[in-house]
Amino acid sequence: MSPVASAVGAPLLEIRGLTVDYGEGPGAVHAVDNVDLVLHRSETLGLAGESGSGKSTLAHAVTRLLRPPGTITGGQVLYHRREGKDAAGHVSDGPARSGPVNVLDMTRPELRAFRWEEIAIVFQSAMNALNPVHTVLAQIADTLKAHRPGITRAECRERAAHLLTTVGVPAARMSAYAHELSGGMRQRVMIAMALALDPEILVLDEPTTALDVVVQREVLAELVRLREEFGFSVLFITHDLSLLLEVADRVAIMYAGRVIESAPAEEVYRDPVHPYTRGLVASFPPLRGPRRELAGIGGSPPDLRALPPGCAFSPRCRHAFDRCTRDLPLLRRPAGAPERLVACHLDDPNGSADDER
Ligand code: SF4
Repeated sequence: MSPVASAVGAPLLEIRGLTVDYGEGPGAVHAVDNVDLVLHRSETLGLAGESGSGKSTLAHAVTRLLRPPGTITGGQVLYHRREGKDAAGHVSDGPARSGPVNVLDMTRPELRAFRWEEIAIVFQSAMNALNPVHTVLAQIADTLKAHRPGITRAECRERAAHLLTTVGVPAARMSAYAHELSGGMRQRVMIAMALALDPEILVLDEPTTALDVVVQREVLAELVRLREEFGFSVLFITHDLSLLLEVADRVAIMYAGRVIESAPAEEVYRDPVHPYTRGLVASFPPLRGPRRELAGIGGSPPDLRALPPGCAFSPRCRHAFDRCTRDLPLLRRPAGAPERLVACHLDDPNGSADDER
């Protein structure tokens, strides 16, 4: 791994019109519905939303780890590999092929190489993700051997020691089993394993949710440091928007399987536009400035099997008007906000609440 600048760069992963269904036919549930997102080089993109909003399903679809009955029914996941790499991420001897590769079209061997080499995922529960009958060293070595067939035992040991030290775990713990480690250490080991092959993208699916607040902060600080040091891009998924606003460059909010707002993290915090985003931001204490009264969001997350017509948030939205229960709001760029997208009929010049009052 070599240190690189942390400036956000060109598109690395483009998710275009991604749709994931559970079930088939008219009764199919759209867990992810026509989602567009772009992750840039060296960027941390945060994905926030309540349970069932589709964020984890999206992460599993992007990495092709989705299990039945989940099915990807539409869209593309375009990966812009580095010059000189083939579709699976191997450095090729031949001339570099131009253009991105669609992850959804990859063959099984291509996928096996793509995962870990180019994209690695850290799940919420390290206890479940780690193999209980193998030591940390054995599990890191497994990953290394699968992708570097000629690697020796001594080289595996050396690499494991380096990775563990990098994430703040003493190298001596490589002989430990998962149950011999604390929750924070297990999650750090998962991060070390994810970094084993120096991937371009780290997908973090609720990586600190199972940890207590103090350890959560320590692991987050470690992640921020690692990203700055190694320059990988991060897709960070959590239900905790306050946490995302601290670590992400940009934030996308999901509701009922759709992205309903995306903007730079600072803008989301300072001036949330979508009523649901406003509700989320108002539900945690401000990081700086005067205290404000905390407010929750009334109602419950929607039942994806029976979404209301128009805007899925309308039953909970105190700004709802006639059009909201009729037309599905599509993402649009509000005037004077070039980096923001919002899916709400409020202040829409093509037919706003004012027209109906
Ligand atoms: Fe509320 Fe209507 Fe906007 Fe939906 S489209 S968030 S119901 S104002």
